[in-house]
Amino acid sequence: MKVVKAPFMRRFIRMAADSWEQGWHERNGGNLSYRIRHSEIEPLFDKLVLGVWRPCCVHVPMLAGEFFAITAAGSYFRNIPEDPERCVGIIQLDETGTAYRQCWGFAEGGCPTSELPTHLLNHQVRTLASGGIDRVLHHAHPVDINALTFALPLDSETFTRRLWATISECALVFPDGVGVLAWDVPGSVELALATADLMERTHAVVWAHHGILCAGATFDDAFGLMHTIEKAAAVQVRVLAMGDPRPDQRITDEDVNRLAQYYGLRLSIP
Ligand SMILES: [Zn+2]
Repeated sequence: MKVVKAPFMRRFIRMAADSWEQGWHERNGGNLSYRIRHSEIEPLFDKLVLGVWRPCCVHVPMLAGEFFAITAAGSYFRNIPEDPERCVGIIQLDETGTAYRQCWGFAEGGCPTSELPTHLLNHQVRTLASGGIDRVLHHAHPVDINALTFALPLDSETFTRRLWATISECALVFPDGVGVLAWDVPGSVELALATADLMERTHAVVWAHHGILCAGATFDDAFGLMHTIEKAAAVQVRVLAMGDPRPDQRITDEDVNRLAQYYGLRLSIP
């Protein structure tokens, strides 16, 4: 089987195409990674070409030996479906979780996204927090969640409560809330560490005036989480643009608690 025909790669490519269609990935914006199951990579071993070990720049011992599919540095999501071997690649971590080697893809001299340390740190955090269930990490630049970071106070409680109060499904889709971080240098170690700290308690972290990072067990989960947050943000942007004429006319905290009780949700704010 060709690597691009493997079910996990087909889902990876479809998610990239869907995210592009949503308008979340201008130019080479955003990145996507997937922690591959052993049963998924094993049938592809004869297709892998193992490169030299390179430093990860982070220490992720919980991910030692794991394989990841990840977008290439500088690649455009728009091009992933027609050119996955150049825009995406597979890497493996060494037995200490401090180095990686390229195994497939990254054609024409490519390498993983410069956000690789952020992805690895947050994969480690979500793998631990979810008991190994979470496998997908997706970073994108949706317009309306970014717009809200100019209008609301930059704290997790305000964003979480406002989004829960906007569409009934929000508390069901992200009962563990949305983390929010003030602006910091993209790709910096400080931003990666602050994100990983929040990711211990939530599946979604908003970076002010930049974008959002979402985690999920499956591509559907991660895509659906970002889609839901962005839709609620879009509704809020319209409400604010109308001058928020009836601020008392929304889903209240009490309503959200009733919904949580009805569906047996454990709500939390990161
Ligand atoms: Zn970004």
